[in-house]
Amino acid sequence: MGGAVLELRSVERHYLQGDRKLTILSGTDFTLSSGEMVALVAPSGAGKSTLLQIAGLLERPDAGDVIVAGQACGRLSDDRRTAIRRNEIGFVYQFHHLLPEFSALENVMMPQMIAGLPVEEARARAAQLLGYMKIGDRAEHRPPELSGGEQQRVAIARAVANAPMVLLADEPTGNLDPATASYVFDALEALVRQSGLAALIATHNHELAGRMDRRVTLDAGKVVPLPE
Ligand code: ADP
Repeated sequence: MGGAVLELRSVERHYLQGDRKLTILSGTDFTLSSGEMVALVAPSGAGKSTLLQIAGLLERPDAGDVIVAGQACGRLSDDRRTAIRRNEIGFVYQFHHLLPEFSALENVMMPQMIAGLPVEEARARAAQLLGYMKIGDRAEHRPPELSGGEQQRVAIARAVANAPMVLLADEPTGNLDPATASYVFDALEALVRQSGLAALIATHNHELAGRMDRRVTLDAGKVVPLPE
C-alpha cells in the first residue's frame, strides 16, 4: 500500500430541511491510500452519497477540506477542481450511465478523447481496459445489447480510462444479482490490484465488503471502522 491519495479533513456537511438543520457529516476525517480498497457500509440516508460527492469534488463541504493527490482543493476555483476531478478521480454509480448509441469501446474512449488523447491511443487503451474487465469480446456492442453485469464492467473501464488515482463507487453492484455482482467485483478487484488505484466503494453487500482491505461506516457524521 502506498501514500495517501485522498484525504478528508474535518469535513462538515449540513442540509436545511425547513427550519431544521440536518447534520450529515461532522468532523469527518478519512484517508485513502494508493492500492487500497475500502468498503463504505452504512444504512440508506446515512450520508454515503454525500461523502462520495464531496470526496469526488462534485460538491463543496460547508467546512473542512478534501486533499486529492496532495492538493488541498477547498480554496481552488471550480475550473481547477474540475481539472483535478477529470485527471485523478473516476466514478462508478449503481446505474451505468453509458451512452446507448455508442459501442462499449467508444464509451471507454470518450473520456480520453475529451482529455485530448489521440484517437488511436484512446482506442488501444480502451481495448486493454475492456480486456482487464473481461469484456474485450463485447467491445463493439452497444450498451442496450449487453447484460447488466457487462454494462457495469464497461462503466468501470470508462471510470478508469484516464488513469485516475482514485475510484469512487456508489453501490456499483447494487443493481445486479449476487453471482453477477461477485463476478463484476472480481474484475474490479483485479483492476485495482494491477493498477495501484485506490478505491472507496459504498455497498450494502457484506460479502463484497468482506473482501476489501477494510470497512468503514458513518456514525454521527464521522467515518469510523465498521464494527466486526
Ligand atoms: P446515502 O447515500 O447513505 O443513502 P445520502 O448522502 O444520499 O445518503 O443522504 C444523506 C441524507 O441527506 C439523507 O437524509 C438525505 O435525505 C439528505 N440529503 C441529501 N442531499 C440533500 C439535499 N440536497 N438537500 C437536503 N437533504 C439532502
